[in-house]
Amino acid sequence: MRITIIGAGVVGCSIALALRRLGMDVTVVDKLGAVGHGSTSASCAIVRRYYSEPGMIALANEGAHVWADWENFLGPIDDDKIVFPRPGMLFIPPEIDAEVRAIVAEMHRLNIKVSILDVEEVRERFSYLDTSSNFPPLPPDHEAFFESRGREIEGAVFEEDAGYVVSPGLATQNLRDAGERDGVHFQLNREVQRIDKRDDGKFELRTEDGASIESEVLVNAAGPHSSIINRLAGVKLALTTRPLRQEVHTLRNPLSNGSTASPLLIVGDMDSGVYWRPEGGGRDIIVGSTEPDCDALDWVDDPDDYDDEISEPYWRRQSMRLMQRFPEVKLGPARGLSALYDVTVEDWYPIVDRTDLPGYYLCIGTSGSSFKTSPVLGQLLAEVIGACESGRDVDQNPIQMKLRYTGYTVDTSFLSRNRGVIQSSGTVIG
Ligand SMILES: Cc1cc2nc3c(=O)[nH]c(=O)nc-3n(C[C@H](O)[C@H](O)[C@H](O)COP(=O)(O)OP(=O)(O)OC[C@H]3O[C@@H](n4cnc5c(N)ncnc54)[C@H](O)[C@@H]3O)c2cc1C
Repeated sequence: MRITIIGAGVVGCSIALALRRLGMDVTVVDKLGAVGHGSTSASCAIVRRYYSEPGMIALANEGAHVWADWENFLGPIDDDKIVFPRPGMLFIPPEIDAEVRAIVAEMHRLNIKVSILDVEEVRERFSYLDTSSNFPPLPPDHEAFFESRGREIEGAVFEEDAGYVVSPGLATQNLRDAGERDGVHFQLNREVQRIDKRDDGKFELRTEDGASIESEVLVNAAGPHSSIINRLAGVKLALTTRPLRQEVHTLRNPLSNGSTASPLLIVGDMDSGVYWRPEGGGRDIIVGSTEPDCDALDWVDDPDDYDDEISEPYWRRQSMRLMQRFPEVKLGPARGLSALYDVTVEDWYPIVDRTDLPGYYLCIGTSGSSFKTSPVLGQLLAEVIGACESGRDVDQNPIQMKLRYTGYTVDTSFLSRNRGVIQSSGTVIG
């Protein structure tokens, strides 16, 4: 069976490898000249398991095992391979409430190394962090931004072996190398502009350069362009995917002293409205947003026409929130990048499913947090395609995915297009 995947990001390349391993004839098409050059290239590639939805905790945990065993997962390839430092991650929620305790209990059930630290333990273990509460986050030009809230954080969740992948572009290239070794075809510099479903049931894609690509099955893995591809295919969903502009900024790590060795960990600080991790071997820190209520979301109508420069107010806001928690950080020159998430507007969870158009499948709405799970989502969509194309109705009989590394079985209907809305944080934290 011939399958075309639109999108050679980390998601499309993961799906391609998984489908090829099921014996399918796979072609990946991308309008860019190299794999992983879309939103994947901007990813912070943090690999953690703290999610509101139990199924996603299990998938993220499986993802962490895949990244840790990357060489074996891929099989032999010639290129350099990613590295996966695991300094641990501290989550600082506004309060340690029943919801946080339930997430940690679920993580324990899955044997994830996680614990709740009280504020004294946070101070002892990470003395460079200021443990004042900054909740609710404010814009830095607000008169109360620098005022004490008069209380400390209640504590934090520490995930001992959370890490990040260096680099997401290289990870995607690794997937391409493994795919090509096994027979996956890549057609780069080809923008899909038209999708027809012919009377014989086959898809025919027309690309900008006049080429035509035929296949029995078509996969939308177009990242922030996912809704455009759905429109070309004439497919409407109950859930909405939409590009959201983001900035990530780079500051000097004051603990590094110019050396590359640094004790810095990863922090998800919902109390202050930012997440951050070491960069450049620990010399720098990169900081992104956890979408606090006070910041307007920067939705983009056209993913091919958005402001891809960083902006002074965004940089200042994010840097100053980082400095609230980590006071030794100094504002340096504005550095960073601007990129797009493909957000499932209703709940910020991906959609990995068939559609009502036979043969047309989705792995979209990755919502700023699906780098970590991409190899697992790739395997899941390959299973969905294999099952549907053999006549199974996965709407009625969803895939119960047996996770290879961790051994757990996950009911994957929570990622279906008709799932309703997951009760989530409605942010990148999930
Ligand atoms: C700033 C930022 C930080 C992030 N941080 C994290 C993190 O810390 N941890 C984490 O797990 N996740 C993170 N993510 C999310 C993660 O990186 C994404 O979920 C993932 O990279 C999406 O991959 P993708 O393959 O779906 O999309 P993309 O990488 O965008 O790939 C889609 C591809 O489709 C191609 N395409 C689109 N339209 C067409 C067309 N018409 N014809 C041909 N090709 C087309 C594009 O050129 C592109 O290459 C972050 C994302 C961003 C932007």
